[in-house]
Amino acid sequence: MCGARTASSGDKRETKMSNKQNLEVWFLTGSQDLYGEETLAQVAEQSKAVLATLEAGLSTSVKLVYKPTLKNADAIRRTMLDASSSDACIGVITWMHTFSPAKMWIAGLDALQKPLLHLHTQANQSLPWSTIDMDFMNLNQAAHGDREYAHMVTRMGIARKIVVGDPGSASVAARVSAWITAAVGYNTSRNLKLARFGDNMRFVSVTDGDKVSAQMALGISVENYGVNALVAAVAAVSDADAEALTAEYERLYDVASELKVGGARHDSLVYAAKQEIALRRFLEAGGFNAFTSNFEDLGDLKQLPGLAVQRLMADGYGFGGEGDWKTSALGAILKSMTPAGGGTSFMEDYTYHFGPGPAKVLGAHMLEVCPTITKAKPKIEIHPLGIGGKEDPVRMVFTATPAAGRVVCLVDLGDRFRIVQNEIEIVEPNEDLPNLPVARAVWQPAPSLETSAEAWMLSGGSHHTVLTNSVSAETIEDFARMAKIELVVIDEETRMREFRKELQWSAAYHRLAERL
Ligand code: MN
Repeated sequence: MCGARTASSGDKRETKMSNKQNLEVWFLTGSQDLYGEETLAQVAEQSKAVLATLEAGLSTSVKLVYKPTLKNADAIRRTMLDASSSDACIGVITWMHTFSPAKMWIAGLDALQKPLLHLHTQANQSLPWSTIDMDFMNLNQAAHGDREYAHMVTRMGIARKIVVGDPGSASVAARVSAWITAAVGYNTSRNLKLARFGDNMRFVSVTDGDKVSAQMALGISVENYGVNALVAAVAAVSDADAEALTAEYERLYDVASELKVGGARHDSLVYAAKQEIALRRFLEAGGFNAFTSNFEDLGDLKQLPGLAVQRLMADGYGFGGEGDWKTSALGAILKSMTPAGGGTSFMEDYTYHFGPGPAKVLGAHMLEVCPTITKAKPKIEIHPLGIGGKEDPVRMVFTATPAAGRVVCLVDLGDRFRIVQNEIEIVEPNEDLPNLPVARAVWQPAPSLETSAEAWMLSGGSHHTVLTNSVSAETIEDFARMAKIELVVIDEETRMREFRKELQWSAAYHRLAERL
C-alpha cells in the first residue's frame, strides 16, 4: 500500500496493511550431523549472528525468521513443507554454513513452493590469517558447502536468486531487500482478486488475453461484474456520506470553486464521491485489490469514474482502463512493492515531443492517473470528456514530480506472458500545460525515445503501463523470475541488433521450454 492515508479508507485497508507487516521470510541454515554437538552449537550461534547482521541492513517491514539448523533430509523436507503451507511465509533464504550434502535437499527443494534466495556468505568477513587452523577451516565451509547445494538447485531447475558477500555489506543488503520486496509482490499476485466492471473495450487487442492462463501463471483471479452492480452500489450511498467525503476533498486538494459546496456544479462532485464510496465498499466486501472500468460500458453511471479511481489507486488498488485487467493486476502488484512515500500509477503513452531538445513522452490517461507520483497538491476539476457520452467527469489534475523511474507492462503473447520494462527519467514539462485537463507525466525514456519505442513495439509492449518511481529494476527482475515470466528490459545498454536477437532466442527458449 502506498500514498496518503485518508480518513475514508476504512478498517479493511488497515487489515490489509497489517497483514503485509506480518509477512515473514524464513532463514534456513544447512549443515549435517557429522560435525558433532560442539561445532553445531557454534553453527547455530553464528547463523543467528549472520541473520541479525543481515536484517539490520535491510529496508523492509517483512520479518526474517530464524529456523534451527537443518542437518538431515527429513528436517529439510518438513521445513520446506511448512514454509510452503504457511500463509505468512513469502520466501526462504538458504545458506550452507558448513557442508550439507545436497542429496539431503532433493525432497525438500522438490516440496518448496515459495521463492528461494540462496545467500552465499560466511560468519567471518576477514580471515584470521595468523591464527587460522583446521578447526576454523572446518567450521567455515560455505565456500564449498554452498557450491554443493547450488549444484543441486541448478540440476533441479529451480528459479532462485543467488547473493554473494558479507552479510553486513550494503550491496548484500540491497540485493536481499530487492528480493524480499519482489516476494511481497509475488505474494500479492498469488492472492490477487480483480473485479472487472464490464468487459474489454471493443476491438482492442492488447488489453485482452487469457484469464485462465493468467491465473495459472500469476495466481490472479479476474472476476467479471455487470456494471449494474456498480450502479446499484452508487445508488445505495447516502447524500450525507457523499457530502462528508466532498468536505474531505476540500481539505486535501485544491477544489475548483464551481465544485465546492454552494458551487454551480457541486452535484457532480457529490456524485464522484458516491462513486468512490461505492467502489471502495464493493472492493472491500469482495476482498478485491484491483479493478477495471470501460468507458464504453457505463450503464446508468452518470460519469466515467475518474476521481474515485485516482483516490483508490492512491490507497494501493490496481487499476486498468478499458477493461485492461493485466495492467490493473500489474498495478496492484507493483503498488504492494512500493515503499511508503513512493509513487506508482496506471499510465498510457499518449503523445510525443520529438524536439527541439531531448525527445520525450507525454503520458496520461482519460482521467485515471494516481496522485502518488506527484508531490504537488492536486487540483480537482470538471471538464468534458469527448468519448463515452456521459456527463462531465470530475478528476484530479497534476503533473508528475521529476524522478528516475520505469514503465512496466504485462502482455499476453498467446503462448506465454511477457513483462516489458523501460527505464525512464520523469522530467518537468517544457512549458506549463494550462489547457490540458488531465493528470500527466513527462519522461525521457532510456536509451532514447527512438530506441525505446522501437524496442518496446518489437517486444509487443502495450500502450497501457504501470509507471513507478520507486519499485527498482532489480525487484521487477526478481519478481519475473519468481513468477517464471519472461522479462524484457529496455535501458541505457539497449542496442537494437542485440535486442532483436534476444527476443528471437527468448522466443526459441520459451517455446522449447514449454513443450518439453
Ligand atoms: Mn487507455
